[in-house]
Amino acid sequence: MQENQRMSLMKWIWRSFLRIALIPLFVVELVFISIFFFSNDWANDVMMKLFKDAAQEDLLHTVSRESKVITMQLESISNTTNLYRQEVEESLKNRALFTEEDQERLHYSSDGVFHTTRNLKEDGAAVFYSGATTQDHDIQKVARLLTTQDLMKHIYKTESLAEAVYFNTHDSLNVMFPYYDVMDQINPKTLIPEFNFYYEADQEHNPSRGTKWTDVYLDPAGNGWLASSIAPVYKDDSLEGVVGIDVTLDTIRERILDLDIPWEGFGMLVGKDGTILALPQKGEVIFGLNELNEYAYDQQIYTNTFKPEKFNLYNQDETKHFAEILPEAKKGLTTAKFNGKDHFLAWSTVEETGWKFISVVDEEQIFNDLFLLDRELMKIGALMIFGLILFYLLFFMFLYKRAQKLSHSISDPLYEINNLVHEIGAGRYYQKDESFRIEELDQTATSITSMGQTLGTANEELYKAQEELKEKESDLRALVSSIDDVIMRLDENGTYINIWTNDESKLSKSKNDLIGTRINDVFSEKDALFFMVTIREVQELGQPKTVEYHIDTLAGKRWFQGRLAPIVDESGEFRHFVLTARDITDLKELQESLRKAKEEAEQASKAKSDFLSSMSHELRTPMNAILGFTQLLEYEKDALTTSQNESVEEILKAGNHLLTLINEMLDLARIEAGKLTVSLEPVEVQPVMEEVIGIISPLASNKRITIDHNLDLWNEIYVYADRTRLKQVLLNLLSNAVKYNQDEGCIRVECSVKGEKAQFLVEDTGLGIDDKEIDQIFEPFTRILDEKIIEGTGIGLALSKQLMALMNGTISVKSELGEGSMFWIELPAVENIITDQIQETNQKSTVLTGSNEKKKLLYIEDNPANLHLVQKMITHKSNIEFMSAMNGENGLKLAQTHQPDLILVDLNLPGLDGYDVLSNVQDHPSTKGIPVIAISANAMPREIEKGIAAGFQDYLTKPLEVTTFLDVLQKHL
Ligand code: ADP
Repeated sequence: MQENQRMSLMKWIWRSFLRIALIPLFVVELVFISIFFFSNDWANDVMMKLFKDAAQEDLLHTVSRESKVITMQLESISNTTNLYRQEVEESLKNRALFTEEDQERLHYSSDGVFHTTRNLKEDGAAVFYSGATTQDHDIQKVARLLTTQDLMKHIYKTESLAEAVYFNTHDSLNVMFPYYDVMDQINPKTLIPEFNFYYEADQEHNPSRGTKWTDVYLDPAGNGWLASSIAPVYKDDSLEGVVGIDVTLDTIRERILDLDIPWEGFGMLVGKDGTILALPQKGEVIFGLNELNEYAYDQQIYTNTFKPEKFNLYNQDETKHFAEILPEAKKGLTTAKFNGKDHFLAWSTVEETGWKFISVVDEEQIFNDLFLLDRELMKIGALMIFGLILFYLLFFMFLYKRAQKLSHSISDPLYEINNLVHEIGAGRYYQKDESFRIEELDQTATSITSMGQTLGTANEELYKAQEELKEKESDLRALVSSIDDVIMRLDENGTYINIWTNDESKLSKSKNDLIGTRINDVFSEKDALFFMVTIREVQELGQPKTVEYHIDTLAGKRWFQGRLAPIVDESGEFRHFVLTARDITDLKELQESLRKAKEEAEQASKAKSDFLSSMSHELRTPMNAILGFTQLLEYEKDALTTSQNESVEEILKAGNHLLTLINEMLDLARIEAGKLTVSLEPVEVQPVMEEVIGIISPLASNKRITIDHNLDLWNEIYVYADRTRLKQVLLNLLSNAVKYNQDEGCIRVECSVKGEKAQFLVEDTGLGIDDKEIDQIFEPFTRILDEKIIEGTGIGLALSKQLMALMNGTISVKSELGEGSMFWIELPAVENIITDQIQETNQKSTVLTGSNEKKKLLYIEDNPANLHLVQKMITHKSNIEFMSAMNGENGLKLAQTHQPDLILVDLNLPGLDGYDVLSNVQDHPSTKGIPVIAISANAMPREIEKGIAAGFQDYLTKPLEVTTFLDVLQKHL
């Protein structure tokens, strides 16, 4: 059966039955039947041979026995013949007389025959003395011979086979017992010596002169077919006559006929020359002969009469070959075909006469029983086959029924199970658990039922989950449709797995076409490579990354900002990437236009700044000349008229105003051009404020304005700032507070530290600013009040704001129109930071406590705040002797005098700068070898490199960081 060939269960079981049980059984049965027939056939052959051998032996035995019996009988006849001959010889020697009775019955016939005319009363012999004899009848001889009458009679009576006893003489005298009518039977002129029963005994035919048997011949005395035992009687060596005893074949034939030859066979007697002597009726049928039982003696017999030629076996076609076999052996077996049938022939020789006794049996008859047995066995065989076929038919039917039953007992539950599965498949999950006889099927049904229930439960949960999922999906869809972003799911090879968008024109291809393609198919080779590198990075780091890309979409070339994030499952296993792409083309264009606008604005601003800068420079030179010459004129006050003096004053006033304007413009231009740098360092507030208030006070007193301040409390307050620029901002705020104040107004100046910030507050009781305009006051050239009333440039506050930004500070305003304004600035405070750092450092380490030896430290710095700061930093280091100088020249002198262990120098010194100090220290023999450390507000790496290259041992940047500073000291002291 082919593996994939489908068939019903019934067919399959039936086939299995056939293959496993029936066919082998059938084959075995066939083998047995074959063996049966073969052995039957073989036994038959053996039996046939045995039968044949037994039959042949039996036949041979029968013919031997019969031939012996005949031989014995014939022997007896021969002996008697001999006896009779002796008696005849004896009788012929003696004289004899006729008895009266014989006398009476002997007469001559007209033919000259001397003969008996009647029988004796008590039976006597017949006498025939032929009339043909030329000699005279020897009557005396007749008388002598008749003396043997009694012996003849005796022989006749005792020898059952003897038909006649006679003596024939050479002169044709015949004396014979029993009596017969000689004249009626014998021709009167008969010459007896011419007959075979005479001449066969003469000297020529029988030189031994013993007893001899004649061939079969027809008895001339009318006794039918005869054979005679004859013996010659000599008288003085001349043959006197021949005695003989006739034996009729009828007697033998009857005996043979009576013989019970088995297998319906028959016996037959054959003469020496092959003539059939005796043949029963069965034989006649076979040979197609009619035995010559009777012979018509309608005429007297004058000659020998023998059996016709057709009675000779050796002349018959079927038995011709006997001529070669039979005479050769005394007994034997042979076969012959008669009427198309095979016959067995067994023969045995009758010793006395040389006759052959043959028994003939139809072969068929021998084997008849065997054939019958064979037929019976064949019948049994046929019955067996029939029985077998019947058995097989019944068995097949039975098996077919069984197969049907078996297939039903499997297929019915299977149908049921199938139904179960169908029902479950159709969504009817909760099925009744059917029970089946076959355990496995029952278990299967139970498993399927419970699977159905599990499936049902799972399905319900799945349904719920699906519903939730649908809800979430619709939420997601709503979300996706509400956002303009394109969301894509990619695998690690950059293949698009799914895409969500509400606008497919943002894609390079239609959504369906894009799914399944790779990034390489959409992006340029370079961009695709970049994307793949980003994917790898995201995969490795597990962190999202943002990329910007420019691609061809269905709506043309667009810019996208994509955020590539990894998707990991619950176990933390990497799954896919999600790419959220936002169309930023508009933004990019805006950025671009902004960039361009900025560039243009910057260019314009630069042009403006350059213009202002160059203009201011250009103006400063004539302004210097104007102011210089005006100031010279002022010195010549007395030489000028009042009016001239007033003019000079106006020129100076206008000139100063213009110079202020030019300076401020120049600053502003430098700031905008990025050229203005500030040097941030700790600045002590109190001196700066004192200075500013000192400058402003005369102006305020002109307007009888009072300045309130708490200067005493500002001691020890430091801020990180550029001292000059801080002073400039404060001056601007205070001058405005004066300018925009009313006469006899009030200005409150306050400084305080709030957390890390230090705040400077300037409050006036002036005009105040309208809320609407308050935002504009920090714009350059913005003047709210009529500039004719109050002198001003409109740049001050704008510049202040820029400067505050440069110093990491802020400027703010709060104002009420008509009430006054409050301006305040905030800067990083130094005080607390420094104090905290120092304390912290002291707690952490015992810097410079390794040795009690005093170390000299020289600090050259023009900024007192910095000097103060450093001094404070080393307050707790008792082994350091601190000395300072405000400029390079003094510093060098101190160094040469005291030869400190370490020199700190500010690079930006008035006069000799830091580099000059270094070269002087290194050049002077008394200071050569002292390590010099640079301190500078310039923290540019290039500057640091330059300093180190010049020979500074270290380069510290302002603002000083306490820990670093102390570490450097530790290193070099
Ligand atoms: P200037 O004072 O030279 O005009 P500023 O930049 O200093 O320029 O000031 C800008 C403007 O802000 C002034 O023109 C003035 O209108 C207003 N302003 C500044 N300070 C005050 C103040 N303290 N009170 C009222 N208005 C002020």
